[in-house]
Amino acid sequence: MGVVSAREMLLKATEGKYAVGAFNVTNIVQMEAVVEAAERKQAPLILQTSVTPARFLGVRVLAAAYRAMAESASIPICLHLDHCADVGLCRAAADAGYTNVMIDASKETFEENIRLTASVADYCHGLGDITVEGELGTVGGVEDQIKVTEDEAALCDPDQAEEFVRRTRIDLFAPAIGTAHGVYKTKTPKLHFDRLRTIFDLLNGTSPRVPLVIHGGTGLQDDVVRRLVALGGCKFNVSTELKHTLIDATFDYLSTHRDEYDPGRIDRAVNKATIQTVERWIDVLGCAGKAG
Ligand SMILES: [Zn+2]
Repeated sequence: MGVVSAREMLLKATEGKYAVGAFNVTNIVQMEAVVEAAERKQAPLILQTSVTPARFLGVRVLAAAYRAMAESASIPICLHLDHCADVGLCRAAADAGYTNVMIDASKETFEENIRLTASVADYCHGLGDITVEGELGTVGGVEDQIKVTEDEAALCDPDQAEEFVRRTRIDLFAPAIGTAHGVYKTKTPKLHFDRLRTIFDLLNGTSPRVPLVIHGGTGLQDDVVRRLVALGGCKFNVSTELKHTLIDATFDYLSTHRDEYDPGRIDRAVNKATIQTVERWIDVLGCAGKAG
């Protein structure tokens, strides 16, 4: 099964009313653990990297590791570049073998967002079956290099959503509906379910055409996640929780094994904790057993 792009995988998820987990990884140990969890659950999978690891390790190294894992996996797996405001890096990732890229020009004006997003979509589609995600409205909080203050966070305007998708020719659409990156300050963040429903009906009402992406999964209650999935969110981004899992598992291991100098044991602790986190998300998203 292995290497695929996200469009078909997510159209199927939209029809089946489940969501595919899109898990951000910062290193190869995490990448392997996320793949292992998805294989155990026989779930389709989207691996994501944000811009910092894509620059630090390099898109070619990350794409090569992804290909090696995906080609021998029994499930379909995508590699996605998350929230990239740099058109050059979007292109470089597509050239290197990422199967999807997100151009995030959401802080620009509507027209400039369309211009930049369309240029990436044209480039990626010209290379073949590479899927492009665009964002309208801005998701609050901090995701890697993109910071959006509460004042700047703006909801997606449904009237503009259809025009944005049509003019950019993107494959996946991320509407800002009140979710945020990082850790929520409250257990019950104000989410705009009706807005998601309206946008879903506009873009996918008659038959699924443009899968919808939900950002800021970490910290949402399970029932909220299920409601967003029921309303049409079919790609669910989880980043902060995996960072916490990595750092907490490393810290916990070192706290009790301070006299050891065996990096492999730390890797195994991270592997085990990451698998638990990802398996739990796969269950909540309803994508276990959907790999076939
Ligand atoms: Zn995001």
